[in-house]
Amino acid sequence: MQIDLYLLNGSNEGDRELQLQTALTLLEEHFGKVTNASKLYETQAWGKEDQQSFYNQALHFQTDLQAEEALNICQQVEHQLGRERHEKWGSRIIDIDILFYGNQIIKSDRLTVPHRLLHLRNFALVPLEEIAADFIHPQFEINISDLLKNSTDQLKVVKLSDK
Ligand code: AMP
Repeated sequence: MQIDLYLLNGSNEGDRELQLQTALTLLEEHFGKVTNASKLYETQAWGKEDQQSFYNQALHFQTDLQAEEALNICQQVEHQLGRERHEKWGSRIIDIDILFYGNQIIKSDRLTVPHRLLHLRNFALVPLEEIAADFIHPQFEINISDLLKNSTDQLKVVKLSDK
C-alpha cells in the first residue's frame, strides 16, 4: 500500500540551494520521483543566531517502504552529503526530517512521527502548507493551514523568489 510520506529538508551550510537539490536527487533514487515539492524558504537559524540562515523545502513522496526504512534512507542521504553530527542547534549541510508517514502515529527509539516540533516551527509549517494545506495532523486533528494560523513561532519564513 502506498503511504504519503512528507519530508522536510534543511541546510544552513555551504551552497544551501545545491545541497537541497542534491538531497532531492538522491532521495528520488530511493523513493522514486517526488510527487510534490515546495519552493525553497529562508529562515533565520532557530535557537542560535550567529550562523547562516536556513533554506528549507517540504517534499511529498508516495512509498510502500516502512517508516524506519524511510528514516534509514534519509540518514543515508544525509551521510552521503557529508553531514557530521555537530552540537545541538549547530550548522548543518543537510538535515532531513520525516514530518508525516501517512496518518500514522509512531513513537519508537528512533522515530517520532508526526515530527514532534512540526506544529511549533514555521520553517516546517510554511513550506508544508504550500504542498499540503489540507493535510490533517493525526494527533491534533486540524489541518496544516490551521496549525500555521495557531503557531506562536515568531521567526519569519521568506519564500525565495520562484526557485
Ligand atoms: P537531528 O540531529 O535533528 O537530525 O535528529 C536525528 C535523530 O532524530 C535521529 O537519531 C533520528 O532517529 C531521530 N528522529 C526521531 N524522529 C525523527 C523524525 N520524525 N525524522 C527524522 N529523525 C527523527
